[in-house]
Amino acid sequence: MLDLNNIEIAFKTRSDRELKNAKFLFSVIKSPFMVRILGFMSNLALKIRLPVSWAVKPTLYRHFVGGETIEECFPAMNKMMAENVKSVLDFSIEAVEKEAEIDKTFQELKHSVINSGKHEAIPFSVFKPTALTTHSVLKKVSSGEPLTPEEQISHNNFLQRIDALCAEAVKAGKPIMIDAEDYWFQKAIDDVTEDMMLKYNRKTAVVYATLQMYRNDRLDYLQHLIELSKRNSIIIGIKYVRGAYMEKERARALDGGYPSPVYPAKKDTDDAFNEALRISVENHERIHVFCGTHNEESILALMKYMRDKGLPNNCPAIYMAQLYGMSDNLSFNTAKAGYNVAKYLPYGKIRNVLPYLVRRAEENSAIAGQTTRELIMLKQELKRRKSLK
Ligand SMILES: Cc1cc2nc3c(=O)[nH]c(=O)nc-3n(C[C@H](O)[C@H](O)[C@H](O)COP(=O)(O)OP(=O)(O)OC[C@H]3O[C@@H](n4cnc5c(N)ncnc54)[C@H](O)[C@@H]3O)c2cc1C
Repeated sequence: MLDLNNIEIAFKTRSDRELKNAKFLFSVIKSPFMVRILGFMSNLALKIRLPVSWAVKPTLYRHFVGGETIEECFPAMNKMMAENVKSVLDFSIEAVEKEAEIDKTFQELKHSVINSGKHEAIPFSVFKPTALTTHSVLKKVSSGEPLTPEEQISHNNFLQRIDALCAEAVKAGKPIMIDAEDYWFQKAIDDVTEDMMLKYNRKTAVVYATLQMYRNDRLDYLQHLIELSKRNSIIIGIKYVRGAYMEKERARALDGGYPSPVYPAKKDTDDAFNEALRISVENHERIHVFCGTHNEESILALMKYMRDKGLPNNCPAIYMAQLYGMSDNLSFNTAKAGYNVAKYLPYGKIRNVLPYLVRRAEENSAIAGQTTRELIMLKQELKRRKSLK
């Protein structure tokens, strides 16, 4: 079985200084108390513009983010590409309500999609659909509420922007992924994603939906997509993730008096995630997969399904991916073994990236075992390098 924990391969692109920064960072975010302070400070920074960049930029930002612009991401991107790990540049922007501001975001995203066509190191582009419209309209469309004429115009603009980005992805020759976020926006996003797949996924998967497998309805939704593929002779693109908003979804369901859309136990999510991978590999002629996870068992399961099906490691229909700054052992060891691998590389101004950074810190503190493992590997690698000096 492939060793996914070879630390020399895992950290080859990282300098001693970067490893020391990472070690410091993971020992801080291991503490839920420190993460609560970080969340509190970040809320203050967003509300009253409290300056935090002096603390965040040399630590969390440097570890988890590529830079403020696409160009600033190039050094990180090139280093990873030298080890066959590609980059998915992920523009971070806070939600805005005015059409003119939304249009600015759209222009940056378009730039990002065009840019994907220029670099071998960028296999996909990606965007958050909530950045292209107002939350209130998206929520109304998702729940089937009628829109005012003004809201209808705003929603039509949203649909046109998404269509324009997908058309740009076709021109760039690189697929485009549509991120998933909160449950109450997702129906509208699923609908437009299906429309885009029907329009652009005839020859190959250009448009990828995101399925959050912590949702208890997503295995059924996968069957729906398979049917859609069969009826319309299209190739479905799917990014699988477990889902990043579990606490929020549960609290909101409790408040709203509806059943939580999230499975009650981690094991249910894990089983659904792996089952979706199995079904997808089984249907690899119809479904192209982008497997976004830091879970080693899921990666090993995907490799096994591929082997059982006789697919080569570099099967073009299958990508594995982690976030920049996390689980380098998985990314670099799988890439070394010839699998298609990418890392999500976020970029944007500190203020806009803050919620993403807090989510990463919360996630790492919630999964104490995972952080401890990162820390152990970082310490081992620093020790190994010291012994060579
Ligand atoms: C490349 C990439 C792209 C991503 N894009 C998105 C995106 O578009 N949208 C999005 O929402 N997230 C996205 N994520 C984040 C992802 O959803 C997870 O939050 C994160 O990857 C942690 O899950 P894991 O599979 O890595 O590992 P694990 O550590 O094995 O799983 C942790 C996850 O399991 C689930 N979980 C934990 N406890 C329970 C419980 N008690 N009951 C039920 N489920 C539980 C939660 O989803 C939690 O995040 C992305 C991640 C990656 C790597």
